[in-house]
Amino acid sequence: MTIAKRQFDTLVIGAGGGGLRAALQLAQAEASVAVVSKVFPTRSHTVAAQGGMNAALANVLPDSWHWHMYDTVKGSDYLGDQDAIEYMCRSASNLVVELEHAGVPFSRLDNGKIYQRPFGGQSQNFGGDQAARTCAAADRTGHAILHTLYQQNIRAKTHFFDEYFAIDLIKDQEGFILGALVLEIETGEPLLIEAKTTLLATGGAGQLFRTNTNAHINTGDGLAMALRAGIPVQDMEFFQFHPTGIAGRGMLITEGARGEGGYLINKDGERFMERYAPHARDLASRDVVSRAIATEVREGRGCGSDGDHVLLKLDHLGREVLYKRLPGICDTVKMFLHIDPAEEAIPVFPTAHYTMGGIPTDRHGRVIVPVAQGQESIPGLYAVGECACVSVHGANRLGGNSLLDIVVFGRAAGNDIIDYLNDNRYHRPLDHDSVEQAMAHLQRWDQKGEGESVPVLKKELQTTMENYCGVFRSEEILQQGLDKVLQLEQRLQAVRLKDHSKIFNTARIEALELENLMDIAIATVASALGRQESRGAHSRIDHPDRDDQRWLKHSLYYKEQHRLDYKPVTLKPLTVDSFPPKERVY
Ligand SMILES: Cc1cc2nc3c(=O)[nH]c(=O)nc-3n(C[C@H](O)[C@H](O)[C@H](O)COP(=O)(O)OP(=O)(O)OC[C@H]3O[C@@H](n4cnc5c(N)ncnc54)[C@H](O)[C@@H]3O)c2cc1C
Repeated sequence: MTIAKRQFDTLVIGAGGGGLRAALQLAQAEASVAVVSKVFPTRSHTVAAQGGMNAALANVLPDSWHWHMYDTVKGSDYLGDQDAIEYMCRSASNLVVELEHAGVPFSRLDNGKIYQRPFGGQSQNFGGDQAARTCAAADRTGHAILHTLYQQNIRAKTHFFDEYFAIDLIKDQEGFILGALVLEIETGEPLLIEAKTTLLATGGAGQLFRTNTNAHINTGDGLAMALRAGIPVQDMEFFQFHPTGIAGRGMLITEGARGEGGYLINKDGERFMERYAPHARDLASRDVVSRAIATEVREGRGCGSDGDHVLLKLDHLGREVLYKRLPGICDTVKMFLHIDPAEEAIPVFPTAHYTMGGIPTDRHGRVIVPVAQGQESIPGLYAVGECACVSVHGANRLGGNSLLDIVVFGRAAGNDIIDYLNDNRYHRPLDHDSVEQAMAHLQRWDQKGEGESVPVLKKELQTTMENYCGVFRSEEILQQGLDKVLQLEQRLQAVRLKDHSKIFNTARIEALELENLMDIAIATVASALGRQESRGAHSRIDHPDRDDQRWLKHSLYYKEQHRLDYKPVTLKPLTVDSFPPKERVY
């Protein structure tokens, strides 16, 4: 079979903030750049980001990038790499101003400067009073950023392949990445995109869990593509549960709601966060607040007839503040709960939100893997954004640091790719075995006959992950979870599609996504089983303490034989002194 081909300098897979910021850097440098996205670019999950983007602009309260760095290292429970964290926090202010100049309509203070709100885990003076570091466009910051970046890319003549689904990376015998096989969703035709450099920016994998805040498209495709290409994924045991998803449904109520002065209460009307985090209270970091809510419910202090959630109180803030600063939240609560947050408290419960782990990279976005002597980069392959693990979030991400992460490292990867293209001027010859393998992967779904169904298996997978790999974990529960997921993987072999049509066959896309989710679920549970300590979002009731002696290291999971490996954390920043691990209290 002959497959249509296109050639570009760079292929960017993913049109969220990470992919679009990188593409903009490249297009402005006159590289030929193709962006592939399985949905229209402005429907990427970045559009849903509410609360804002961190930068120590000090527009509201005193602040400095160094305090931001301290908070991020502490928030990561010391698992974040301090070189990358320094780089990100130092760049933040410039990149916010740059976005503003590109057209992002940030909310304003009365003096005309960019509005900033307090968010979880933010402090002044290395642990002092609350800071206000999150730059916001009301509660639609991601929407504003994504639309601006898309429009700037159109101006810079980036080439878009909208509604194309990337299936697998193409790689040669020497390990160079040569592009990817993609599928045009509208026609069902495969297309081979050859590129000198390929950037994965495919976002997170929140669909691993039944109740989550993520878009349906967040199925971790890039992570699974990397795994299939023999690349490990890093720190997958660390999955962030956002404390305030709408109970039982998952839609997000931004941390900005607590930043504006909202707080949590249990069935006795008690502000219980005062017991768990006496200083930061409702603005402690997310892992701390999520565990507190889960504990309140477990110990019988939950609200509602089933006692299965707590309440987020906002009504005391007044209608005017609520509708000015949190208009999207007011709409969401009205639409899904039929209540007015200016009058009634909102039922909330921790909900799967953010993939801290991902494809291991350095701070230039280069994908880095261990070799006999240390580590080396995979030639021609980059990753940024939620699918990557650089690692600035370590064991727990601070709210507002992801919009920052995607812009900072999107730009950095763009710059590094430009250097790479200067040194590697020609396309390498195609590797036909690799193309055939990718085609075989796609054609597997042409098999006809009776079998299991994709939606049934997906639901079982999500429920298993929720029940066996949630906020609190133990060896026994995780082992049961792993056994169950491995059984589901077996059953996946027997799945058959009923619809074999070509045009807009979404059943086929969902099958490919389920395969990806399955690989990532195994990576997540296996990594969680491996780590015998509690750190950040990974909370083991059988190993309740953090153990720096044995576990101050990143995990790496390989698809082949489900192998686990580990590598050291970078404790040395670029220019300042290291923040050595110490007890983490809020
Ligand atoms: C509800 C919500 C609110 C949030 N609020 C905030 C916030 O206030 N502040 C903050 O800092 N962070 C926030 N986050 C986190 C942050 O928004 C995300 O981590 C970040 O936007 C991810 O950007 P990205 O570019 O990595 O990926 P995404 O924006 O998720 O984009 C992924 C892209 O990859 C494409 N893609 C994926 N798989 C394929 C495939 N197989 N083929 C082709 N294309 C593919 C998709 O089409 C999409 O274009 C929030 C997240 C959620 C879910």
